[in-house]
Amino acid sequence: MITGPCLLPFRWRDSLHPNIDRLSARPTRRLYSFSCHVFAPGTLHIRQFSKHTIGCAASGMASRPRVEVLIEFGLWSLRGMIGMRAVLLEDYGVLKLIETHRPELTGQDQVLVRTSVVGVCGSEIHAFNGSHPFREPPAVMGHEIVGIVAEAGSDCSSIKPGDRVTVDPQWTCGTCSWCTSGRHNLCPKKTVLGTTGWSGGFGEYFVIPENRVYPLPPGMSDSEAILIEPLSVGMHASRRAAVRDGEKAVVFGSGTIGLSTIAAARVYGAATVVAVDLLDHCLIAATSAGATAAVHAGAVSADDQIRSYVGKDGADVVFVTIGIPAVFEKALSLVRPGGRIAMIALFDKPVSFEPFDIVGSDVSILGSQMYSDIDVKDAISALVEGRAAIQHLVTHELPIEEARKAFDLTISKKDNAIKVVLLHR
Ligand SMILES: [Zn+2]
Ligand SMILES: [Zn+2]
Repeated sequence: MITGPCLLPFRWRDSLHPNIDRLSARPTRRLYSFSCHVFAPGTLHIRQFSKHTIGCAASGMASRPRVEVLIEFGLWSLRGMIGMRAVLLEDYGVLKLIETHRPELTGQDQVLVRTSVVGVCGSEIHAFNGSHPFREPPAVMGHEIVGIVAEAGSDCSSIKPGDRVTVDPQWTCGTCSWCTSGRHNLCPKKTVLGTTGWSGGFGEYFVIPENRVYPLPPGMSDSEAILIEPLSVGMHASRRAAVRDGEKAVVFGSGTIGLSTIAAARVYGAATVVAVDLLDHCLIAATSAGATAAVHAGAVSADDQIRSYVGKDGADVVFVTIGIPAVFEKALSLVRPGGRIAMIALFDKPVSFEPFDIVGSDVSILGSQMYSDIDVKDAISALVEGRAAIQHLVTHELPIEEARKAFDLTISKKDNAIKVVLLHR
């Protein structure tokens, strides 16, 4: 982070040691004299590499990986941060604000992004609660991101420092049959940003391959751009379910993913979309996202209400965005013969069902795993062209220091919370 006057071209250089970073500045004019100060106990080493380049290395600060540095060159001064702040999932249920080392490029086809905004995703609530199949502590989570490119490797051609971007948080091998056929979401070597080993947007900086970075249209606000990732999930589910013009769909759950799925199903041409949820504020948001009807799941007549909208034979497509076995059973009872059920939710309990309910009526049950490039591109163009009405989903913006509160809000859905985002300053 650079604050205060910064009139010189600068570049953070490679780490010399886990606890020693080097900052190099290249003055545009002849360097006459300079002085440095580091705002932490320890030693700051200054070295003039050439007539126009100096560097400084902070050492002896094992307990302080993040320190503030001021370098003065005559009339110019440069104030910067070595290291970064991040929210660490230290253990199940434990989030901790830490100072840590800034991740670095390990290949020239990668970029370093400075996070501006990061959303709290339902999958991260599962990780926090210990109910996620592979997300576990310790991890710096965060994969719904808007940020600014801080550094781009020399092989990057489409992304440059200063670009405002969002990302597809899937790091894949690029060579397997899935990666080479447009389905990198299924790569067996896939790693997801914000899981153990790949620090995510809950940190001030993260590294990502250039081909997973999407520049944002200039007119798109941060609170709209942060929804590209969840909308991509909805786009993928609608594509998997092959939603066609005029079809009738039911979406169980009106959290961020359910609402994104409602909007995506409308983009795909669904004429009727029935939202089902227990919370009134989520059902109101569902109507704004494009649902043609909203049904309170707790109503005694809920099934009858749903059938009154989709017809007595049932819905063409049912989307399951709530991981509760009873919801899957309900989906099976409400899909029409020959219809499709798209499964998006994570379940923490096994689901049991009568196989003949599927076999006897040609019902297709489809898994929907994150998304592919085409879904992200579709999500961006749907937002740019005003075809996906989800701009109202971000209900709370909190500073990164209040990550725990953001998780509590996301879990409790109090104060009409839907999508809670964290801001890095
Ligand atoms: Zn997510
Ligand atoms: Zn692969």
